[in-house]
Amino acid sequence: MDKKFRKTVIAGNWKMNQLASGVPAYADTLKAGLAVGAQEEVVLCAPYPLLPALLAAVDGTPVRVGAQDVSAHDAGAYTGEVSAAMLADLGVTYCIIGHSERRAYHAESDALVNEKLKALLKNGVTPIICVGESLEQRDAGETLKVVSEQIKNGFADISADEARGVVVAYEPIWAIGTGRTATSEQAQEVCSFIREYLAENLYDWDTSKAISILYGGSMNGKNCAELLAQIDIDGGLIGGASLKPAEFAGMVKDGNEDA
Ligand code: PEP
Repeated sequence: MDKKFRKTVIAGNWKMNQLASGVPAYADTLKAGLAVGAQEEVVLCAPYPLLPALLAAVDGTPVRVGAQDVSAHDAGAYTGEVSAAMLADLGVTYCIIGHSERRAYHAESDALVNEKLKALLKNGVTPIICVGESLEQRDAGETLKVVSEQIKNGFADISADEARGVVVAYEPIWAIGTGRTATSEQAQEVCSFIREYLAENLYDWDTSKAISILYGGSMNGKNCAELLAQIDIDGGLIGGASLKPAEFAGMVKDGNEDA
């Protein structure tokens, strides 16, 4: 089956939650419930100031640490920004880019997301690029058009070899933080479309089959197994439920069984 060509990635997105003082207790609970399969990556994407505490707390475990955004610039006069080199220097190995909250609240364009993707690849940090439609766009029948534009622009000037090192997260905006999950059929339909689009329009099937495509949007311990069972869903980007370490560990187990 196709899934053997790529990793299952179970990634938590803490968003702007948690404090450094809470990280050790979180990590202890997670570690107590964690069973990671050989084909599986477990990632926690934390706010910048929490990264050192999280790196220390999961040191020696299979848990990888990610950031939630990065600067498109290498270095210089960009007050408040954090470069990909700084993340790599800390030991951060993943980074979310193009999350719908950043696209909406910080006016991030596809072009900027593409620059961020290049900055991460240059520094050996795996990008998790988020794409997804709003409810209005879905209701207008524009889902595939919106998602294909975001994929095409996000992967602009990226070679097939580089693309293999990118993780895609399909996150319908109407499902994020709303408790309204996409059905497994809806999620599979778009993830399968993304894989086909990557294969037919940007790269080839060998490359496309190697790219992990995650679903994100109100994924939790109850709906995770069914979503992960879909052939083109290679993992999850998990917001709210990743703040509960025991529930998140259970989702890792679901991913493990599916890998
Ligand atoms: C997210 O933050 O990417 C996300 C999917 O959030 P939630 O799981 O809370 O919907």
